[in-house]
Amino acid sequence: MTATVLDGKQVSSEIREELKKEVQQLKDQGVQPGLAVVLVGEDAASKVYVSKKAKSCEEIGVYSEVHRLAATTSQEELLQLIDKLNNDDKINGILVQLPVPDHIDDKAVIDAIALEKDVDGFHPSSVGNMVIGDDCFLPCTPHGCMVLLEKSGIDLKGKKAVVVGRSNIVGKPMAMLLLQAHATVTICHSRTKDLAAEVKEADVVIAAVGRPEMVTGEMLKEGAVVIDVGINRLDDGRLVGDVHYESAAKVASYITPVPGGVGPMTITMLLKNTVEAAKKCK
Ligand code: NDP
Repeated sequence: MTATVLDGKQVSSEIREELKKEVQQLKDQGVQPGLAVVLVGEDAASKVYVSKKAKSCEEIGVYSEVHRLAATTSQEELLQLIDKLNNDDKINGILVQLPVPDHIDDKAVIDAIALEKDVDGFHPSSVGNMVIGDDCFLPCTPHGCMVLLEKSGIDLKGKKAVVVGRSNIVGKPMAMLLLQAHATVTICHSRTKDLAAEVKEADVVIAAVGRPEMVTGEMLKEGAVVIDVGINRLDDGRLVGDVHYESAAKVASYITPVPGGVGPMTITMLLKNTVEAAKKCK
């Protein structure tokens, strides 16, 4: 079997075209959606993500501002900025790029973001609403994976899904959204006894581990759908996912590439949440 590629770039660009029209309609009504991105410190990958987010906003007509703060910024100063942004009418969405430096408590920072501006979906109340299936901003990466599956016509009902990774920003919410789509879900992590055996059972595998090419073709069930969330930079400069693409593509029915799979979907869902936040302010 040679897997069909789930082209996140293509699906993203279709959704962004739609969003662009919605933004124009909002602007015609006197509302321009606005996103504030806050970056603390000099993390190289974070700098790239922040620039990409700002550029993507610009492309669809969303106002954006990037607050680049020194690594020595105190928690108090960061909280003051968030308070200011919470009360700024130009801003509909606030995103604090994680990770923040160790001396800052990321939970306190996320808690401080007004719920209606929590376009990352990380606020505890957003997480609670997601779990009970209430209206909320869904976390962008898992939401992006779900939209990619949906748009590709992959039915999750009754399917056995295995999520590898249990972080608060990817693994756990991913599992919850798959459950809401009626999959039967297993979550694996670093203490899982026999990861290969768990993955072998899966109709759908979501890899969100942060370990280059850890999930190989021989671990997969024939015809599995494979979503690779991982982004890993190798010493030779190559960007690879958590799945060994070449071997997995021979066994899977569908697979996301890295880059060009989940990554663009994540940013697209951020744009979507920001536009939704602006609509609620009309
Ligand atoms: P974290 O480091 O927060 O979590 C990694 C998870 O993987 C943990 O739950 C950990 O288990 C588990 N894990 C680690 N080693 C193993 C192992 N050997 N076997 C099984 N499970 C293991 O990472 P994130 O969730 O933040 O990110 C995961 C990946 O996704 C990264 O590559 C990141 O760069 C990428 N990413 C991509 C995004 C995108 O837009 N495409 C957005 C966000 C992240 P335990 O809990 O037991 O420690």
